[in-house]
Amino acid sequence: MEREMQYSAKQDIKSLNQKELENLFVSFGEKSFRARQVYHWMHVKHATSFDEMSNISKSFKEKLEECCALTVLRQKLVQRSTLDETAKYLFELADGNMIESVRMKYKHGNSVCISSQAGCRMGCRFCASTLGGLTRNLTPAEMLDQIYRIQEDIGERVSHVVVMGTGEPLDNYDHLLKFLELLSDENGLNISQRNITVSTCGIVPNMRKLAKEKLQITLAISLHASSQEKREELMPVARKYGIDELLKACEEYFVQTGRRITFEYSLVGGVNDQPQDARKLAGLIRGLNCHVNLIPVNPIKERAYVQPAGQAVMDFKQILEKQGITVTVRREMGRDIDGACGQLRRRQMNK
Ligand code: SAH
Repeated sequence: MEREMQYSAKQDIKSLNQKELENLFVSFGEKSFRARQVYHWMHVKHATSFDEMSNISKSFKEKLEECCALTVLRQKLVQRSTLDETAKYLFELADGNMIESVRMKYKHGNSVCISSQAGCRMGCRFCASTLGGLTRNLTPAEMLDQIYRIQEDIGERVSHVVVMGTGEPLDNYDHLLKFLELLSDENGLNISQRNITVSTCGIVPNMRKLAKEKLQITLAISLHASSQEKREELMPVARKYGIDELLKACEEYFVQTGRRITFEYSLVGGVNDQPQDARKLAGLIRGLNCHVNLIPVNPIKERAYVQPAGQAVMDFKQILEKQGITVTVRREMGRDIDGACGQLRRRQMNK
């Protein structure tokens, strides 16, 4: 117990930007260039201990051990697809919580899908990640380290990041923002903001706040329905923030940032996959500068939702396209290692 308390009192230095790290080290009576060195070890070399930091003096290492925590996730399990190079990782956090992340290999590079929370409190009906509720927010360092650990594991650069794993990123707003700052920092992993996508179920006030940051990231909205009524059925968050208000915030996001919105639409057989749903959707979003990503729902055993017939997906796509909307159908990757989003963590928790 005592050790645990000591641990939590330590400064989480991997969640600090270089300036904040400098201020901390100066307060320790150290020279400010030490911050540059330690920052480089953490965010470029992905060091797993202070001991590895070979250009740091022994006495300063001791000070770091005493006062600072270095967040490093423990790889508990990896499921590697034999069909493509997709892999699902289960990581353990310092407090024993588990989270999952996914690596996908594309022609344009390696993309990693990260979790932003342990669990989720949004309650979307088709989603496995929310079944156990929210445990806690992830720190910026815990979000970053999912990417660092995967990059070290595969021995290749990660060029794209999607915040689409477990959790609602805009429900962990401040940590998300710091994470984005560190991830796109030229002294860190230096991932271009244009290669980062943040997906939200539609927490409107925080979308508005984010718009004012004028970042160059892509904002993806989990829409999944073409009417308020149907959206409420699938996503409890819709009761709080209505579809009209949501679409207005999307428009505002585009005006503020110049970034085209992506709408994600999970097609659920017999629920939201009918031609009239497509026509309604087209009517709703036609005026917006946007892109639609159709995702045949990934069935989870706790719910009775099923995938639409293959033809229904193509018909749905065509109806949108005829209205001048650009549409992609998400290619399913790592089919053999799957189970829907959040299932790996859930299986592990149930054990
Ligand atoms: N909370 C955020 C990000 C995490 S979910 C959000 O809601 O956007 C990432 C995406 O996966 C969302 O579009 C979500 O609706 C979708 N999703 C969740 N479970 C799914 C399932 N079983 N099948 C298909 N898509 C799913």
